[in-house]
Amino acid sequence: MSKNFDTQSTIVAITTPIGTGGVAIVRLSGASAIKIADKLFSSRGKKPSEFLARELVLGKFEYHGFFEQCMCVVFVAPNSFTGENVVEFQCHGGIKIAEKILSACLESGARMAQNGEFSLRAFLNGKLSLSEAEGMIDMINAETDAELSAGYKLMSGKLTKKVREFEASLVDCISELEVSFDYPEEDIEYSSREDIKKRLNKLKIEIGALIDSYQTGNIIKNGINVVICGKPNVGKSSLLNALLKKDKAIVTSVAGTTRDSIEDTFEINGVKVNIVDTAGIRETTDKVEKIGVQNAKKKLAGADLVLFVVDGSAPLDSKDEEIYRKVKKQKHLIVVNKADKKQAVSIDSAIVISSKKGENLKALTDAIYEKTVKGEIYASNLVVTNARHVECLKRAQKSICHALAEIDSQTLDLISIDLNEAYTAIGEITGDTSNEKILDSIFSKFCLGK
Ligand code: GDP
Repeated sequence: MSKNFDTQSTIVAITTPIGTGGVAIVRLSGASAIKIADKLFSSRGKKPSEFLARELVLGKFEYHGFFEQCMCVVFVAPNSFTGENVVEFQCHGGIKIAEKILSACLESGARMAQNGEFSLRAFLNGKLSLSEAEGMIDMINAETDAELSAGYKLMSGKLTKKVREFEASLVDCISELEVSFDYPEEDIEYSSREDIKKRLNKLKIEIGALIDSYQTGNIIKNGINVVICGKPNVGKSSLLNALLKKDKAIVTSVAGTTRDSIEDTFEINGVKVNIVDTAGIRETTDKVEKIGVQNAKKKLAGADLVLFVVDGSAPLDSKDEEIYRKVKKQKHLIVVNKADKKQAVSIDSAIVISSKKGENLKALTDAIYEKTVKGEIYASNLVVTNARHVECLKRAQKSICHALAEIDSQTLDLISIDLNEAYTAIGEITGDTSNEKILDSIFSKFCLGK
């Protein structure tokens, strides 16, 4: 993306995915969008500049011997996605037609849009905040209901509203400090300090709660990482297949069949679960198996939850114990498998299932959800799902804590520096204080045409 944010040119892109489909959309945005469209499209002798705003008009797109009967819609600034004049052509699907329309627009004065450039313009024109734009992209990329719902919440501005409250509170504190610089009589200073302390403590608590919500937010965005562990032949692969409802892992009665980790995803209550069936974490001299074991150890270290599986039809032995010793420090569930056979194991806290018969799997998935998902994902509480946002909150929190620690001993101008830092960090969430570099790096990750 260009560094100086060229907002003068009129930009164009195919906004629908490239490929065959019923309809494709080409979007023009910028000061000359309607003028360019006038050169290319007409309907019963009328040009786009004569169309009613937001009215879908059937007509003819014509350029150097290329004809297409399609729809055209005009949005007049500021009432458009970007806040600029926008024209969209809805043409027949397929690659060629949309490309012809695109090149006609390019040859008529538009420039090819870069990734995320329509959204960048929407942001620069105050149509949406940075975090709202990120929420929109989260919705587009959502694979699960939980991601979709979190993306919607972000896009609809809940976080923006909260962050702007924080900003306002920091601005109040900073201006109060400035008044104290101008009137440095002791009593004003004292009351300022006490009042500011109160406000900063409130901010600290509220920002802290948002930082904490990221644990749930991270799960919504990236899913729960669950690792299945247990000695060979207890039914780990069978369990994976049962949870995925497909035959992903090979199941045999020969111990050590799974040599490397096998992973896939499924959903519990609309939340993504990344599940790994490990190759076992026992010591081995076999070269191939060693790599598998190392990989399993890595997966285990990054697990949000471990399912420690034992074979309920045979007494526990030292191999089970050895593995349990390795996993027990992590958040885990004990799963007693092969419940369809005569039982030789009884563990109070365990969940007893049969992978083969699919028995009691619901109790297991409920337990996985309960152990990992903190708080209500679909409730109206504000949950931070974006790593960038939580990083900004943490920086702001650090500056606020620093200010609080120093407020009784330092001069107010030093406290003001901390609060200004907190303000900058917080404002980067909505983009209120973001510099071009930050904006550039965020919007360039968006897709073309968005
Ligand atoms: P892994 O080595 O731990 O991955 O175990 P597998 O999933 O490959 O299963 C080992 C053997 O146990 C296979 O013969 C499975 O059919 C059998 N098995 C797995 N789960 C069950 C179960 O719930 N009940 C019974 N009866 N057999 C099972």
